[in-house]
Amino acid sequence: MDNNNSCLVCGQDMMQSDGCRVAVMYHCGEQYVRIPFRGFRGERCGDCNVLSGNYHHWGCDLEQCPVCGGQLISCECMDVECPVIINKKRPGRKATVRSQMDKG
Ligand SMILES: [Zn+2]
Ligand SMILES: [Zn+2]
Ligand SMILES: [Zn+2]
Repeated sequence: MDNNNSCLVCGQDMMQSDGCRVAVMYHCGEQYVRIPFRGFRGERCGDCNVLSGNYHHWGCDLEQCPVCGGQLISCECMDVECPVIINKKRPGRKATVRSQMDKG
């Protein structure tokens, strides 16, 4: 983790960004709005460096689970058949570029 500071779901460098761009996560087919970091005005999260009022980056120790209210990285919601996922979109979905390359 030391060499990789990019957020897995929004792709931003955690040290350079003010908050995660992904606002929802999914659990067992239900959509949940993530719980933003609530600190003092101007305070940054000690783990993922987001600014107060913004969503944590994925994997932050301090993110609260919107499903059960526990610590997201260690709560039971991660441990079931349908764990909490953030990016419902599959990689490669943004395939609009492909049609332009498809010249045969
Ligand atoms: Zn992020
Ligand atoms: Zn955080
Ligand atoms: Zn949970």
